[in-house]
Amino acid sequence: MSSFTWVCLLFNLCMLLSSYPALSDPFLGEKGLAEIPSKFLNLAKRPEIFEYMVKIRRSLHENPELGYEEFETSRFIRNELDGMGIPYKHPIAVTGIVGYIGTGNPPFVAIRADMDALAMQEAVEWEHKSKVPGKMHACGHDAHVAMLLGAAKMLQEHRSDLELAFQGTVILVFQPAEEGGGGAKKMRDAGILENVDAIFGFHVSSSFPLGTVATRAGPLMAASGFFEAKISGKGGHAAIPQHTIDPILASSNIIVSLQHLISREADPLDSQVVTIAKFQGGHAFNVIPDSVTIAGTFRAFSQESFMQLKHRIEEVITLQASVQRCNASVNFYADEKPFYPVTVNDKDLHKHFQKIAGHMLGDENVKEVQPLMGAEDFSFFAEAIPGYFYYIGMFNETEGQLASGHSPYFKVNEDALPYGAALHASIAATYLLEHHSPIATQKRSSHDEL
Ligand SMILES: [Zn+2]
Ligand SMILES: [Zn+2]
Repeated sequence: MSSFTWVCLLFNLCMLLSSYPALSDPFLGEKGLAEIPSKFLNLAKRPEIFEYMVKIRRSLHENPELGYEEFETSRFIRNELDGMGIPYKHPIAVTGIVGYIGTGNPPFVAIRADMDALAMQEAVEWEHKSKVPGKMHACGHDAHVAMLLGAAKMLQEHRSDLELAFQGTVILVFQPAEEGGGGAKKMRDAGILENVDAIFGFHVSSSFPLGTVATRAGPLMAASGFFEAKISGKGGHAAIPQHTIDPILASSNIIVSLQHLISREADPLDSQVVTIAKFQGGHAFNVIPDSVTIAGTFRAFSQESFMQLKHRIEEVITLQASVQRCNASVNFYADEKPFYPVTVNDKDLHKHFQKIAGHMLGDENVKEVQPLMGAEDFSFFAEAIPGYFYYIGMFNETEGQLASGHSPYFKVNEDALPYGAALHASIAATYLLEHHSPIATQKRSSHDEL
Protein backbone atom coordinates (compact mmCIF):
# COMPACT_ATOMS: atom_id res chain seq x y z
CA MET A 1 0.00 0.00 0.00
CA SER A 2 1.35 3.43 -0.89
CA SER A 3 1.93 6.01 1.81
CA PHE A 4 -0.58 8.18 -0.05
CA THR A 5 -3.30 5.56 0.45
CA TRP A 6 -2.35 5.23 4.08
CA VAL A 7 -2.46 8.96 4.68
CA CYS A 8 -5.81 9.08 2.88
CA LEU A 9 -7.18 6.39 5.12
CA LEU A 10 -6.18 8.25 8.25
CA PHE A 11 -7.45 11.48 6.77
CA ASN A 12 -10.80 9.87 6.03
CA LEU A 13 -10.84 8.44 9.50
CA CYS A 14 -10.28 11.90 10.93
CA MET A 15 -12.98 13.37 8.80
CA LEU A 16 -15.38 10.73 10.01
CA LEU A 17 -14.30 11.29 13.57
CA SER A 18 -14.69 15.04 13.39
CA SER A 19 -18.15 14.60 11.87
CA TYR A 20 -19.08 12.03 14.50
CA PRO A 21 -17.57 13.08 17.80
CA ALA A 22 -19.32 10.25 19.57
CA LEU A 23 -16.92 7.38 19.11
CA SER A 24 -19.63 4.81 18.97
CA ASP A 25 -20.10 5.49 15.27
CA PRO A 26 -20.35 2.18 13.37
CA PHE A 27 -17.32 2.99 11.21
CA LEU A 28 -15.28 3.51 14.33
CA GLY A 29 -16.72 0.41 15.83
CA GLU A 30 -15.52 -2.96 14.71
CA LYS A 31 -14.80 -2.11 11.08
CA GLY A 32 -12.67 0.99 11.73
CA LEU A 33 -10.69 -0.65 14.51
CA ALA A 34 -10.24 -3.80 12.49
CA GLU A 35 -8.37 -1.93 9.76
CA ILE A 36 -5.93 0.00 11.92
CA PRO A 37 -3.65 -2.89 13.02
CA SER A 38 -3.01 -4.20 9.50
CA LYS A 39 -2.38 -0.64 8.27
CA PHE A 40 0.24 -0.18 10.94
CA LEU A 41 1.83 -3.55 10.10
CA ASN A 42 2.02 -2.63 6.42
CA LEU A 43 3.56 0.70 7.35
CA ALA A 44 6.08 -0.95 9.72
CA LYS A 45 7.18 -3.31 6.95
CA ARG A 46 7.90 -0.45 4.57
CA PRO A 47 11.64 0.16 4.06
CA GLU A 48 11.65 3.60 5.71
CA ILE A 49 10.40 2.14 8.99
CA PHE A 50 11.87 -1.38 8.82
CA GLU A 51 15.37 -0.25 7.85
CA TYR A 52 15.22 2.52 10.43
CA MET A 53 14.56 -0.07 13.16
CA VAL A 54 17.23 -2.48 11.87
CA LYS A 55 19.81 0.32 11.91
CA ILE A 56 18.90 1.29 15.47
CA ARG A 57 18.91 -2.28 16.72
CA ARG A 58 22.32 -3.05 15.19
CA SER A 59 23.84 0.15 16.51
CA LEU A 60 22.62 -0.60 20.05
CA HIS A 61 23.73 -4.21 19.70
CA GLU A 62 27.29 -3.08 18.98
CA ASN A 63 27.30 -0.86 22.06
CA PRO A 64 25.63 -2.74 24.94
CA GLU A 65 25.40 -1.13 28.37
CA LEU A 66 24.45 -2.71 31.70
CA GLY A 67 21.60 -1.66 34.00
CA TYR A 68 21.72 1.98 35.18
CA GLU A 69 24.74 2.52 32.90
CA GLU A 70 22.73 3.00 29.70
CA PHE A 71 24.06 6.55 29.25
CA GLU A 72 24.95 6.28 25.55
CA THR A 73 21.82 4.23 24.83
CA SER A 74 19.75 6.90 26.52
CA ARG A 75 21.52 9.68 24.61
CA PHE A 76 20.96 7.76 21.36
CA ILE A 77 17.23 7.43 22.06
CA ARG A 78 16.92 11.12 22.99
CA ASN A 79 18.62 12.08 19.73
CA GLU A 80 16.05 10.02 17.84
CA LEU A 81 13.18 11.59 19.80
CA ASP A 82 14.65 15.06 19.13
CA GLY A 83 14.82 14.21 15.43
CA MET A 84 11.15 13.25 15.46
CA GLY A 85 10.17 16.32 17.47
CA ILE A 86 8.85 14.21 20.34
CA PRO A 87 9.03 15.94 23.76
CA TYR A 88 10.34 13.85 26.64
CA LYS A 89 11.39 13.92 30.25
CA HIS A 90 14.89 12.80 31.29
CA PRO A 91 16.59 11.56 33.39
CA ILE A 92 14.23 9.33 35.31
CA ALA A 93 15.77 6.44 37.27
CA VAL A 94 19.29 7.49 36.14
CA THR A 95 18.98 6.85 32.38
CA GLY A 96 15.23 6.39 31.80
CA ILE A 97 13.21 8.52 29.37
CA VAL A 98 9.49 9.20 29.05
CA GLY A 99 8.29 10.62 25.73
CA TYR A 100 4.86 11.99 24.78
CA ILE A 101 2.95 11.80 21.52
CA GLY A 102 -0.49 13.32 21.08
CA THR A 103 -2.60 16.00 22.63
CA GLY A 104 -1.23 16.01 26.17
CA ASN A 105 -4.75 15.28 27.35
CA PRO A 106 -6.36 12.09 28.64
CA PRO A 107 -6.64 9.27 28.06
CA PHE A 108 -2.99 8.33 28.56
CA VAL A 109 -1.70 4.97 27.41
CA ALA A 110 1.92 3.86 27.89
CA ILE A 111 4.07 1.53 25.78
CA ARG A 112 7.37 0.35 27.24
CA ALA A 113 10.83 -0.88 26.23
CA ASP A 114 13.77 -1.92 28.42
CA MET A 115 17.27 -0.77 27.44
CA ASP A 116 19.88 -2.80 29.34
CA ALA A 117 22.28 -5.53 28.22
CA LEU A 118 23.86 -8.48 30.07
CA ALA A 119 27.33 -9.03 31.50
CA MET A 120 28.34 -11.80 29.11
CA GLN A 121 30.56 -12.29 26.09
CA GLU A 122 28.86 -12.56 22.71
CA ALA A 123 29.74 -15.78 20.87
CA VAL A 124 27.92 -14.95 17.61
CA GLU A 125 30.33 -13.93 14.86
CA TRP A 126 28.63 -11.33 12.69
CA GLU A 127 29.12 -7.85 11.32
CA HIS A 128 27.42 -6.11 14.23
CA LYS A 129 28.82 -8.16 17.10
CA SER A 130 29.13 -6.41 20.46
CA LYS A 131 32.16 -4.11 20.54
CA VAL A 132 32.31 -4.20 24.34
CA PRO A 133 34.10 -7.23 25.79
CA GLY A 134 31.99 -9.00 28.41
CA LYS A 135 28.75 -7.20 27.55
CA MET A 136 26.05 -8.33 25.18
CA HIS A 137 22.45 -7.62 24.25
CA ALA A 138 21.56 -11.28 24.79
CA CYS A 139 17.95 -10.70 25.82
CA GLY A 140 16.77 -8.62 22.85
CA HIS A 141 16.38 -5.28 24.64
CA ASP A 142 18.18 -3.65 21.69
CA ALA A 143 15.27 -4.87 19.54
CA HIS A 144 12.73 -3.66 22.12
CA VAL A 145 14.16 -0.12 21.92
CA ALA A 146 14.20 -0.25 18.11
CA MET A 147 10.56 -1.35 18.00
CA LEU A 148 9.41 1.33 20.44
CA LEU A 149 11.22 3.97 18.38
CA GLY A 150 9.66 2.49 15.23
CA ALA A 151 6.22 2.76 16.81
CA ALA A 152 7.01 6.31 17.94
CA LYS A 153 8.01 7.27 14.43
CA MET A 154 4.78 5.92 12.94
CA LEU A 155 2.61 7.54 15.60
CA GLN A 156 4.46 10.84 15.46
CA GLU A 157 4.35 11.04 11.68
CA HIS A 158 0.58 10.74 11.98
CA ARG A 159 0.43 12.94 15.03
CA SER A 160 -1.98 15.41 13.51
CA ASP A 161 -4.30 12.54 12.69
CA LEU A 162 -3.82 11.28 16.21
CA GLU A 163 -4.70 14.62 17.76
CA LEU A 164 -7.82 14.95 15.67
CA ALA A 165 -8.87 11.38 15.83
CA PHE A 166 -7.75 9.96 19.11
CA GLN A 167 -7.75 12.93 21.46
CA GLY A 168 -5.29 11.40 23.83
CA THR A 169 -1.64 10.81 24.55
CA VAL A 170 0.72 7.91 23.99
CA ILE A 171 3.48 7.73 26.60
CA LEU A 172 6.77 6.16 25.53
CA VAL A 173 8.60 4.50 28.41
CA PHE A 174 12.30 3.67 27.95
CA GLN A 175 13.38 2.05 31.20
CA PRO A 176 16.80 1.06 32.54
CA ALA A 177 17.91 -2.06 34.38
CA GLU A 178 15.32 -4.74 33.71
CA GLU A 179 17.88 -7.50 34.29
CA GLY A 180 17.67 -7.65 38.08
CA GLY A 181 17.98 -3.95 38.84
CA GLY A 182 14.24 -3.22 39.01
CA GLY A 183 14.41 -0.18 36.73
CA ALA A 184 10.63 -0.32 36.32
CA LYS A 185 10.20 0.11 40.07
CA LYS A 186 12.38 3.22 40.06
CA MET A 187 10.46 4.65 37.09
CA ARG A 188 7.15 3.88 38.79
CA ASP A 189 8.31 5.38 42.08
CA ALA A 190 9.34 8.52 40.17
CA GLY A 191 5.65 8.97 39.28
CA ILE A 192 5.71 8.26 35.55
CA LEU A 193 2.37 6.40 35.74
CA GLU A 194 0.50 9.35 37.22
CA ASN A 195 -2.84 9.67 35.35
CA VAL A 196 -1.84 6.82 33.01
CA ASP A 197 -4.75 4.49 32.29
CA ALA A 198 -2.92 1.43 30.98
CA ILE A 199 0.55 0.19 30.06
CA PHE A 200 1.62 -2.42 27.49
CA GLY A 201 4.97 -4.17 27.07
CA PHE A 202 6.39 -7.20 25.31
CA HIS A 203 9.42 -9.44 24.98
CA VAL A 204 10.81 -11.07 21.88
CA SER A 205 10.74 -14.86 22.08
CA SER A 206 12.38 -17.59 20.02
CA SER A 207 9.81 -20.09 21.35
CA PHE A 208 7.03 -18.84 19.08
CA PRO A 209 6.91 -18.54 15.28
CA LEU A 210 7.37 -15.25 13.49
CA GLY A 211 4.01 -13.58 12.95
CA THR A 212 2.54 -14.95 16.18
CA VAL A 213 2.14 -13.53 19.67
CA ALA A 214 1.64 -15.42 22.91
CA THR A 215 0.29 -14.46 26.31
CA ARG A 216 -2.54 -15.08 28.75
CA ALA A 217 -4.97 -13.22 31.00
CA GLY A 218 -4.12 -13.12 34.71
CA PRO A 219 -0.77 -14.27 36.16
CA LEU A 220 1.84 -14.66 33.41
CA MET A 221 5.17 -14.67 35.28
CA ALA A 222 6.23 -15.37 38.84
CA ALA A 223 7.30 -13.14 41.70
CA SER A 224 11.06 -13.40 42.08
CA GLY A 225 13.69 -12.77 44.72
CA PHE A 226 17.37 -13.47 45.27
CA PHE A 227 19.31 -14.43 48.39
CA GLU A 228 22.85 -15.12 49.46
CA ALA A 229 23.98 -16.77 52.70
CA LYS A 230 27.34 -17.10 54.37
CA ILE A 231 27.71 -20.23 56.49
CA SER A 232 30.63 -19.92 58.89
CA GLY A 233 32.28 -22.80 60.73
CA LYS A 234 35.88 -23.49 61.68
CA GLY A 235 38.44 -24.56 59.12
CA GLY A 236 41.16 -27.13 59.60
CA HIS A 237 42.79 -30.35 58.44
CA ALA A 238 40.48 -32.44 56.28
CA ALA A 239 41.83 -35.62 57.94
CA ILE A 240 41.03 -34.38 61.46
CA PRO A 241 37.37 -33.25 61.16
CA GLN A 242 36.77 -33.47 64.91
CA HIS A 243 38.88 -30.32 65.31
CA THR A 244 36.82 -28.39 62.76
CA ILE A 245 33.25 -27.22 62.22
CA ASP A 246 32.64 -28.14 58.61
CA PRO A 247 30.64 -25.48 56.72
CA ILE A 248 30.60 -27.56 53.51
CA LEU A 249 28.62 -30.37 55.15
CA ALA A 250 26.38 -27.81 56.90
CA SER A 251 25.70 -26.04 53.59
CA SER A 252 24.91 -29.34 51.90
CA ASN A 253 22.30 -30.08 54.57
CA ILE A 254 20.89 -26.57 54.20
CA ILE A 255 20.48 -27.04 50.44
CA VAL A 256 18.67 -30.34 50.91
CA SER A 257 16.43 -28.83 53.61
CA LEU A 258 15.55 -25.89 51.36
CA GLN A 259 14.15 -28.31 48.77
CA HIS A 260 11.73 -29.61 51.39
CA LEU A 261 10.08 -26.18 51.43
CA ILE A 262 8.80 -26.95 47.95
CA SER A 263 8.23 -30.71 48.20
CA ARG A 264 6.72 -30.83 51.72
CA GLU A 265 5.50 -27.37 52.74
CA ALA A 266 4.12 -25.76 49.57
CA ASP A 267 0.75 -26.72 48.11
CA PRO A 268 1.60 -28.89 45.08
CA LEU A 269 -0.94 -26.87 43.08
CA ASP A 270 0.73 -23.58 44.02
CA SER A 271 3.86 -23.45 41.84
CA GLN A 272 7.03 -22.38 43.65
CA VAL A 273 10.79 -22.69 43.10
CA VAL A 274 13.87 -22.49 45.31
CA THR A 275 17.16 -22.91 43.46
CA ILE A 276 20.67 -22.69 44.85
CA ALA A 277 22.69 -21.54 41.87
CA LYS A 278 25.96 -20.70 43.61
CA PHE A 279 28.03 -22.79 46.08
CA GLN A 280 31.48 -21.47 46.89
CA GLY A 281 33.85 -22.77 49.55
CA GLY A 282 37.27 -24.32 49.92
CA HIS A 283 40.37 -24.32 47.72
CA ALA A 284 42.24 -27.52 48.54
CA PHE A 285 41.66 -31.29 48.59
CA ASN A 286 42.70 -31.58 52.21
CA VAL A 287 41.53 -28.38 53.94
CA ILE A 288 38.12 -27.78 55.45
CA PRO A 289 37.37 -24.08 54.84
CA ASP A 290 36.23 -21.54 57.42
CA SER A 291 33.11 -20.61 55.49
CA VAL A 292 30.91 -21.29 52.49
CA THR A 293 28.74 -18.92 50.46
CA ILE A 294 25.57 -20.14 48.82
CA ALA A 295 23.17 -18.06 46.74
CA GLY A 296 20.06 -18.56 44.69
CA THR A 297 16.61 -17.44 43.69
CA PHE A 298 13.05 -18.16 44.80
CA ARG A 299 9.80 -17.82 42.87
CA ALA A 300 6.09 -18.01 43.60
CA PHE A 301 2.78 -17.04 42.03
CA SER A 302 1.19 -15.21 44.93
CA GLN A 303 2.51 -12.55 47.25
CA GLU A 304 1.50 -14.64 50.24
CA SER A 305 3.39 -17.74 49.07
CA PHE A 306 6.35 -15.59 48.11
CA MET A 307 6.67 -13.96 51.54
CA GLN A 308 6.16 -17.30 53.29
CA LEU A 309 8.94 -18.80 51.18
CA LYS A 310 11.25 -15.90 52.00
CA HIS A 311 10.55 -16.28 55.71
CA ARG A 312 11.20 -20.03 55.65
CA ILE A 313 14.37 -19.73 53.52
CA GLU A 314 15.91 -17.49 56.17
CA GLU A 315 14.70 -19.74 58.98
CA VAL A 316 15.93 -22.97 57.38
CA ILE A 317 19.36 -21.54 56.58
CA THR A 318 20.01 -20.09 60.04
CA LEU A 319 18.50 -22.96 62.06
CA GLN A 320 19.97 -25.75 59.94
CA ALA A 321 23.37 -24.06 60.20
CA SER A 322 23.10 -24.05 63.98
CA VAL A 323 22.21 -27.77 63.99
CA GLN A 324 25.64 -28.26 62.42
CA ARG A 325 27.27 -25.84 64.93
CA CYS A 326 27.73 -23.16 62.24
CA ASN A 327 26.56 -19.57 62.08
CA ALA A 328 24.70 -18.22 59.08
CA SER A 329 23.68 -14.81 57.81
CA VAL A 330 21.21 -14.34 54.95
CA ASN A 331 21.04 -11.33 52.64
CA PHE A 332 18.08 -10.82 50.28
CA TYR A 333 19.60 -7.73 48.59
CA ALA A 334 16.18 -6.09 48.66
CA ASP A 335 17.66 -2.66 47.79
CA GLU A 336 19.92 -3.69 44.92
CA LYS A 337 17.70 -6.46 43.58
CA PRO A 338 14.15 -5.59 44.60
CA PHE A 339 11.69 -8.47 44.73
CA TYR A 340 9.75 -8.59 41.49
CA PRO A 341 5.97 -8.94 41.94
CA VAL A 342 3.92 -11.47 39.97
CA THR A 343 3.31 -10.20 36.42
CA VAL A 344 -0.47 -10.11 36.13
CA ASN A 345 -2.23 -9.29 32.85
CA ASP A 346 -5.35 -7.20 33.28
CA LYS A 347 -8.46 -9.01 32.03
CA ASP A 348 -9.96 -6.02 30.16
CA LEU A 349 -6.64 -5.27 28.47
CA HIS A 350 -6.49 -8.95 27.50
CA LYS A 351 -9.70 -8.49 25.51
CA HIS A 352 -8.29 -5.38 23.86
CA PHE A 353 -5.03 -7.14 23.01
CA GLN A 354 -6.73 -10.22 21.61
CA LYS A 355 -8.94 -8.11 19.40
CA ILE A 356 -6.15 -5.90 18.02
CA ALA A 357 -3.55 -8.69 17.66
CA GLY A 358 -6.25 -10.88 16.10
CA HIS A 359 -7.07 -8.21 13.52
CA MET A 360 -3.38 -7.82 12.70
CA LEU A 361 -2.19 -11.42 12.71
CA GLY A 362 -5.33 -13.57 12.53
CA ASP A 363 -6.92 -15.09 15.63
CA GLU A 364 -5.06 -18.38 15.08
CA ASN A 365 -1.76 -16.55 15.55
CA VAL A 366 -2.67 -15.15 18.96
CA LYS A 367 -1.54 -18.03 21.19
CA GLU A 368 -2.30 -18.71 24.80
CA VAL A 369 0.62 -19.76 27.03
CA GLN A 370 0.88 -21.35 30.43
CA PRO A 371 2.36 -19.16 33.21
CA LEU A 372 6.16 -19.21 33.44
CA MET A 373 8.39 -19.21 36.53
CA GLY A 374 10.51 -16.52 34.88
CA ALA A 375 10.08 -12.94 36.13
CA GLU A 376 9.85 -9.54 34.47
CA ASP A 377 10.08 -6.16 36.14
CA PHE A 378 7.21 -4.90 33.97
CA SER A 379 5.29 -6.35 36.94
CA PHE A 380 6.07 -3.17 38.92
CA PHE A 381 4.10 -1.18 36.36
CA ALA A 382 1.28 -3.73 36.18
CA GLU A 383 1.07 -3.73 39.97
CA ALA A 384 0.31 0.01 39.98
CA ILE A 385 -2.05 0.36 37.00
CA PRO A 386 -3.72 -2.05 34.55
CA GLY A 387 -0.87 -3.61 32.59
CA TYR A 388 -0.45 -6.13 29.85
CA PHE A 389 2.60 -8.13 28.73
CA TYR A 390 3.02 -10.49 25.78
CA TYR A 391 5.62 -12.32 23.70
CA ILE A 392 6.47 -11.56 20.08
CA GLY A 393 7.41 -14.67 18.09
CA MET A 394 10.77 -14.73 16.25
CA PHE A 395 11.16 -18.39 15.28
CA ASN A 396 11.55 -18.97 11.56
CA GLU A 397 11.55 -22.61 10.43
CA THR A 398 13.86 -22.04 7.48
CA GLU A 399 16.53 -20.56 9.72
CA GLY A 400 16.32 -23.25 12.41
CA GLN A 401 15.94 -22.92 16.15
CA LEU A 402 17.30 -19.70 17.63
CA ALA A 403 19.26 -19.74 20.88
CA SER A 404 17.16 -18.61 23.82
CA GLY A 405 17.63 -15.38 25.76
CA HIS A 406 20.76 -15.06 27.95
CA SER A 407 22.68 -17.45 25.69
CA PRO A 408 25.97 -16.14 24.21
CA TYR A 409 24.57 -17.41 20.89
CA PHE A 410 21.34 -15.40 21.20
CA LYS A 411 20.20 -13.77 17.95
CA VAL A 412 17.26 -11.54 17.17
CA ASN A 413 15.29 -12.32 14.03
CA GLU A 414 14.98 -8.79 12.68
CA ASP A 415 11.92 -9.78 10.65
CA ALA A 416 10.05 -9.58 13.97
CA LEU A 417 10.72 -5.83 14.31
CA PRO A 418 7.70 -4.66 12.23
CA TYR A 419 5.36 -6.85 14.29
CA GLY A 420 6.47 -5.33 17.59
CA ALA A 421 6.38 -1.76 16.29
CA ALA A 422 2.96 -2.23 14.68
CA LEU A 423 1.52 -3.89 17.79
CA HIS A 424 2.81 -1.10 20.03
CA ALA A 425 1.38 1.57 17.71
CA SER A 426 -1.98 -0.02 17.01
CA ILE A 427 -2.64 -1.21 20.55
CA ALA A 428 -1.94 2.29 21.90
CA ALA A 429 -3.82 4.15 19.15
CA THR A 430 -6.92 1.96 19.34
CA TYR A 431 -6.86 2.08 23.13
CA LEU A 432 -7.07 5.89 22.95
CA LEU A 433 -9.74 5.65 20.30
CA GLU A 434 -11.85 3.34 22.44
CA HIS A 435 -11.33 5.20 25.70
CA HIS A 436 -11.66 8.77 24.59
CA SER A 437 -14.73 10.61 25.74
CA PRO A 438 -15.22 14.39 25.53
CA ILE A 439 -16.64 14.39 29.07
CA ALA A 440 -13.67 12.52 30.45
CA THR A 441 -11.33 14.94 28.72
CA GLN A 442 -13.01 17.94 30.29
CA LYS A 443 -13.16 16.40 33.73
CA ARG A 444 -9.61 15.19 33.94
CA SER A 445 -6.55 17.32 34.18
CA SER A 446 -3.71 17.21 31.71
CA HIS A 447 -0.73 15.08 32.50
CA ASP A 448 1.48 16.95 34.94
CA GLU A 449 4.51 16.47 32.77
CA LEU A 450 3.08 18.28 29.78
ZN1 LIG B 1 16.79 -11.09 30.23
ZN1 LIG C 1 14.69 -9.39 28.65
